[in-house]
Amino acid sequence: MLSSYATRCQLAMYNTSYPLSPEHWHPYRSAAPLHYGSEISVYLHIPFCPQLCTFCEYTRMATPEVELQAHYVRTLLGELHEFGEQHNNLTLEGFDIGGGTPTALSPALLEQLVQGYQQFLGNRNKAADFESSIESTFQTASDEKLQIIGQGGIKRLSLGVQSSSTELLRNHARRLETVEFMQRVLHSAHAAGIQKVNLDFMYGLPGQSTESIMADLELVQKLAPEQVTLYELRTNMIHLPASTAEHRTNAYHIWYAGLQELGYRAPFGRNTFSLNPADEGCSSYLRKRMFNGTPYRGFGVSAQSMGTDGVCYNAGKGLHGAALRRCVSAPGYAPQDVYHLPPAELAAKYIAVAGYSGQFSLAAASRISGCNAVEYYAEPIRFCLENGLLEAIPDDILRITPKGFKHIGAVFSLFYSPLNKTLEI
Ligand code: SF4
Repeated sequence: MLSSYATRCQLAMYNTSYPLSPEHWHPYRSAAPLHYGSEISVYLHIPFCPQLCTFCEYTRMATPEVELQAHYVRTLLGELHEFGEQHNNLTLEGFDIGGGTPTALSPALLEQLVQGYQQFLGNRNKAADFESSIESTFQTASDEKLQIIGQGGIKRLSLGVQSSSTELLRNHARRLETVEFMQRVLHSAHAAGIQKVNLDFMYGLPGQSTESIMADLELVQKLAPEQVTLYELRTNMIHLPASTAEHRTNAYHIWYAGLQELGYRAPFGRNTFSLNPADEGCSSYLRKRMFNGTPYRGFGVSAQSMGTDGVCYNAGKGLHGAALRRCVSAPGYAPQDVYHLPPAELAAKYIAVAGYSGQFSLAAASRISGCNAVEYYAEPIRFCLENGLLEAIPDDILRITPKGFKHIGAVFSLFYSPLNKTLEI
């Protein structure tokens, strides 16, 4: 069912997620495995967290007893190793360890995980700009764990802050550390050999105000991380009231102007910022995913993978509580929902993923869709350029404008089904 652009602007489901509903891909379900081509990124999902923030849309559970953690790490690394044996000629474009909170693991298990990462890298070909990354929280990033990460050769650490407001975080079951504590963690991370620290913040949170964002920016100034990532609160997967487009857009504008003032660079509309203008503010896994549509293979419960011929989700997608615990305890987390997609659907998925960066590459969309994207998307391109929703960056990029940003999900969704009737304002 297609809606006009104006209708899409009012619907929370158009938020750069794709597919729009799980049923949408049912006709493409398949039992056959995906193909990955010769270049790939890898993602490991650790679904454990010491705190369960209510705004979190990821598959995660309270950190379990060490025996279950050990079972999870063993199973995950077993699957990674098996994949590596079967695909020993791949060039590795990126490797991210996320979650959940990977550093919620005990130090010994984190060490095992990092060793598994190193073994997988082995003598494998790596892209020249390969840059691995691991997610963490201030609460769990002990000196011992930072040493393990640094010694394992992981050069980027991403720490969640989300907000500097104790009250705002308390409403979402999340705690805030003191500035001094956070400064010490950043210092320890750098001392351990980690070259880039990213801090995650959220915008669009209920109760967030201009003043609270200004306080967030002050915290950024005090901590001076190399990178900052902004996450928009998305509510289609969780039970929180949706913020208005005005609230979100206003918050992004304040953040954008404030970060520019502090020296963090990104084109308008992007959510990853860096002090180094030559750096896109993210790991090579995310960079290749967002800018090139490079295939990626996810390991662990609920992890997503994208091949050259489709998308799949591992066992555990959408599970919580006891059901997730049962899934984590299982002897494997193999891909469960596999969709072999027509090229246009695969290109739509790429555009949705690229939407996080506020732009997409026509060359990547052409490669993935197997046709000339300028011709295939002629109608939405014309509509978006004429209405000032996107701008064309020579020679390959379509980038969101400040006007388009207000309804960025609706704008990008016009490229999911490029038919004229979706374009009426
Ligand atoms: S710590 Fe991060 S991954 Fe864990 S529940 Fe909170 S937001 Fe989600």
